[in-house]
Amino acid sequence: MQPPARAYIGIGSNLDHPVDQVRRAFAALNAIPASRCVAQSPLYRTAAVGGPPNQPDYLNAVAALETALAPEDLLTALQAIETAQGRVRTVPWGPRTLDLDLLLYDQITRADPELTLPHPWLHQRAFVLYPLHDIAPMLMIPGRGPLTQWLAQCPPLNMARLDSQTHALR
Ligand code: ATP
Ligand code: CA
Ligand code: CA
Repeated sequence: MQPPARAYIGIGSNLDHPVDQVRRAFAALNAIPASRCVAQSPLYRTAAVGGPPNQPDYLNAVAALETALAPEDLLTALQAIETAQGRVRTVPWGPRTLDLDLLLYDQITRADPELTLPHPWLHQRAFVLYPLHDIAPMLMIPGRGPLTQWLAQCPPLNMARLDSQTHALR
């Protein structure tokens, strides 16, 4: 049998009790068939970037999964979790109960618009880079180099880590 792949999932929510949405997402990720969640980042509160004006702040986090699913099957499982948690697609980058992005799948690179790997904006988004760095500080981004290099160019503007116990802002 092949060893499992390592995938990183970006989690975002800015509707309907985001802290609960993110907690439920971690549990749902761990329940994906042939997969288990091996790391959970802290939660970050981030001002919305792009999309319609005056959106509520986002909560963001990253999870690491070990999985025997192929990348496209994992994406299908992520989309099913989004739907189960009430994701409705309206305007692009509009507010959502849950967004699950497949950030990385081992060192695979793929340019398919249905599933681009690594996720196309991962290396430019503080709300992804910081939680990813918390759980995988030595990570290499395939085709782009060390995570730390991108982090150094991406200041954590309008973003704060939550206390893991109380979920108050640090
Ligand atoms: P962004 O991609 O800028 O983070 P978004 O998360 O709001 O925006 P969605 O509406 O959730 O975008 O997804 C749009 C499409 O992106 C999906 O239909 C999916 O097929 C495609 N997609 C391509 N690559 C990925 C990936 N690595 N992870 C998740 N979806 C992807
Ligand atoms: Ca996204
Ligand atoms: Ca998405």
